[in-house]
Amino acid sequence: ETFQPDQIVRAPETDGDGNLAIKRLRLEQALAEAMRKGELVLFYQPIVRLGSGHIVGFEALVRWRRSDGSLVPPGEFIGVLEDSNLIMEFGRWAIRRAATDLHLLGADYHPHRVDDEPLFCSVNLSVRQFGDPDLLPAVRSAVDDCGLQPGQLRLEITESGLLNNLQAALELIEQCHQLGCRVVVDDFGTGYSSLWYLHSLPVNGLKLDRSFLQDSTRSQRGLRIVRAVGRLAVDLDMYAVAEGIETPEQAAICHDLGLDFGQGFFFSKAVPVAEAQALLRQQAEAL
Ligand code: C2E
Ligand code: MG
Ligand code: MG
Ligand code: MG
Repeated sequence: ETFQPDQIVRAPETDGDGNLAIKRLRLEQALAEAMRKGELVLFYQPIVRLGSGHIVGFEALVRWRRSDGSLVPPGEFIGVLEDSNLIMEFGRWAIRRAATDLHLLGADYHPHRVDDEPLFCSVNLSVRQFGDPDLLPAVRSAVDDCGLQPGQLRLEITESGLLNNLQAALELIEQCHQLGCRVVVDDFGTGYSSLWYLHSLPVNGLKLDRSFLQDSTRSQRGLRIVRAVGRLAVDLDMYAVAEGIETPEQAAICHDLGLDFGQGFFFSKAVPVAEAQALLRQQAEAL
């Protein structure tokens, strides 16, 4: 077959790969523009102590608020940020934003128990950020400038991201620890060699992927896995969060199994910072 240059020009109207590549390029340009215009915003989903339901922290989750007011979920654009170098700049921005918001939210936080730590915020890290030499300095200056204790800022790394980039992940974890920040394994249980790296990597905690929880209400097997992971976390003295709690039954199961913390639509979805602040104020009034 002979190559026809005019096919390239027609590509946007076709459904071929050319079309996809152009769509992606447009999305990348739109995202760069969105970042400049401040259209990427962080929402905050409460992380609660199971049993009391007391909010002890938040996970920062990005949304793209388009000029028409619609919200685009991260699943639709994080991959594009990752494939371009935009994720580096975005990631540093997210850390700074989360630290600033955490400082604000902290003013309305009152510990419930004597062993409660200061309010914390978890920020998701993409593996592509492991190689960013400016990442750690950004974490350090965000913590310092916002007057936080380093332990208030936690970084979430997915299990697969950890395992596929072990050396870089290990270096990052060690540097985070030097700063006093914690590193938590996200989507725990969805990768491989879980037990091996829990033993060998100095991570501070894990977030049990919500697929197990969905299984736990359907099968004995799922239930046993949640229980085993709960015990493991307790035995390893790790902070453990059950993700994706949608029903009171699931919250009760996790609590009974010894997991201390939970997150999910049953408690609250991710909300803008002003709503997160309102949730903390309601909680303080009820104390
Ligand atoms: P993740 O870090 O595992 O975040 C949890 C996801 O589960 C969030 O989706 C959250 O809204 C959703 N979720 C929470 N509770 C429930 C529940 O009870 N039921 C169900 N069905 N879902 C629940 P979201 O906000 O769409 O984020 C999706 C993923 O995008 C995140 O998964 C994370 O991997 C990535 N992401 C989000 N924000 C950032 C960010 O700032 N940076 C990076 N690198 N990745 C991010
Ligand atoms: Mg996460
Ligand atoms: Mg997760
Ligand atoms: Mg997940």
